[in-house]
Parts: sequence; C-alpha cells; structure tokens
Amino acid sequence: MIDIDRYAVLGQPIAHSKSPRIHQLFAEQTGECLQYSALEVPAEQFTDVATSFFANGGKGLNCTVPLKELAWAYAECKTERAQLAKAVNTLALQQDGSILGDNTDGIGLVTDLKQNHDIALAGIRILILGAGGASRGIILPLLEEAPVSIVIANRTLAKAQQLASEFVGKGKVSAFGFEDLNGQSFDLIINATSSSLSDQLPPLPENLLAKQGSCYDLAYSNKATVFVRWGIENKALKSLDGLGMLVEQAAEAFTIWRGVRPQTTPIIDLLNAERN
Ligand code: NDP
Repeated sequence: MIDIDRYAVLGQPIAHSKSPRIHQLFAEQTGECLQYSALEVPAEQFTDVATSFFANGGKGLNCTVPLKELAWAYAECKTERAQLAKAVNTLALQQDGSILGDNTDGIGLVTDLKQNHDIALAGIRILILGAGGASRGIILPLLEEAPVSIVIANRTLAKAQQLASEFVGKGKVSAFGFEDLNGQSFDLIINATSSSLSDQLPPLPENLLAKQGSCYDLAYSNKATVFVRWGIENKALKSLDGLGMLVEQAAEAFTIWRGVRPQTTPIIDLLNAERN
C-alpha cells in the first residue's frame, strides 16, 4: 500500500473553504502526490486534533478562524513573520520531528498586489481598516515593501494602538479611530475588518482614496463585496477582493510543505471563471 502524504485545513466553520480544491489543483499541476482534507475543529479541540494528526503521520496543517492564535502557541518554532503576527496559518512537520509555524497570509497579499495586479507598494501611503488577526499578519510583509507609512484604523482604537506599538522600529505605523480619518487620503486602502462578511462598511469619509489609488478587500465572495463596491464608487484604479491572496497564501504553504512552487495564475483564473 502506498502511503500518501496527508495535509488538512482546520477551522470552524470550514465547509465553505476553498483550500482543499486549491491544494488538489496545485498537486495535479506539480505532479505531487498528496491528500488534503477539511476538518471542522472548534477551538477547544484544536490541540488534541493537531497532536493526533501529526502523531498519525500527517505532514502539515493550515489553520483558519478561530484557530490561528492557538496554532501560534502550538508551533514549537516560528518564522519571524509568524512570531510578529502572533498568528499561524501554516504548520509543517520538520525533518527533526518538530512543528514549524508560519504565517503566509501577508506574503500572499503582497504577491497578489504586486505580481498579479501590478500595484507598487514602495513609497505609498497605506490604510489598513481593522486590527484583528488578518491585520496582524499583513503588516510586516507590507512594511518590507517600503511604503511611506501604514495607518491602522479600527473601531476599537485601543486595539489599533496596541498593534501599531508592536511594529515600532520596523517602519512608520500609526493608529487612528475611524473618526480621525477625515481629511486624510491614501494610495491603497485594505479592508481587513470582517465587516464585509455581514455586508457592512466601516464609516469612511469622502476623499479617503487618493487619485489613482486602489482598494483591496481581504474578504472574497462570488459577487463584489460591499468594500469592493465602495472602491468602485470612489473611482479606485483597482478595487479587488481577497481571492488572489487566498490562492497565493496557499501556494506559499504548498512550497513550504513540498519544496515545489505551483503556478498560481491558472488556478486564480479558474476560480474566477467559476464564480463569474
Ligand atoms: P478578526 O475577527 O480577528 O478581526 C475582525 C476585525 O474587524 C476587528 O478589527 C473588528 O474591530 C473589525 N470589525 C468587525 N466588524 C466590524 C464592523 N461592523 N465595523 C467595523 N469594524 C468591524 O478577523 P480576521 O482579522 O481574522 O479576518 C478579517 C477578514 O480578513 C475576514 O473577512 C477574513 O475572511 C479575511 N481574511 C482573508 C484572507 C485571504 O486569504 N483572503 C486571509 C485571512 C483573513 P474591533 O476590534 O473593533 O472588534
């Protein structure tokens, strides 16, 4: 009997996850032999499920809401970007039997912005809406692209302030409440709140988006999210959702696990065609 390398995504809810399909498409494209499943796991069962998965020969896990912080605590060693993000979306069994934790969300976003959509990040003013787990994961990879500044605006100002303080010395990051955004303008506005999921928008003032600026919603959906529509109404050069980021963060995880980088463009094109 051939032993197939096993991977899985854990989260709750998980039924909607596109990760099993994306990794299956990567495996077919690269000729890698693996199995990737989705497991519904509530937070209180995470440690037991992950431990048993690896004890039974599993090679790697993706972790999504609400498990990323638990996965961070679970990982025995972490990459710098995961360490700073305090959230892990990829766990990988190492040669020595230890479990490595990484966060591929930020690099997934940066790759989608730069390579897939030709949005330059150096020298621009970036606004991130939201100060939750996703926001944490994208700040360091964005700073590494040398923007002029990053402003984090959040409904709960204290959370934005706390997050900004964690990046002192890494770049210019400041914290605002939504009401402080009046009179400001940004070249790139990233929605990292979960408000799109309930079809709501944070209160955004007029003229927030600079001329020729772009918008990016980390959330994705079969139809344009409320933030993608806001971007279009505010004459964004590009107003994008997070499907490309999802595929790019998955490609990064696949590369960590398999040592082979899949081509993402055909997979993004396929998923886009399916939802249109
Ligand atoms: P969290 O629950 O950790 O954070 C949610 C954030 O949204 C908080 O800052 C919260 O503010 C804010 N928020 C929620 N509702 C509202 C509202 N009605 N108005 C204003 N602010 C609101 O979520 P995550 O950070 O994990 O995820 C955020 C989004 O990113 C989700 O849509 C998720 O699907 C997406 N995502 C996409 C990925 C991809 O690959 N495309 C990868 C990772 C995440 P407060 O602090 O005040 O509560």
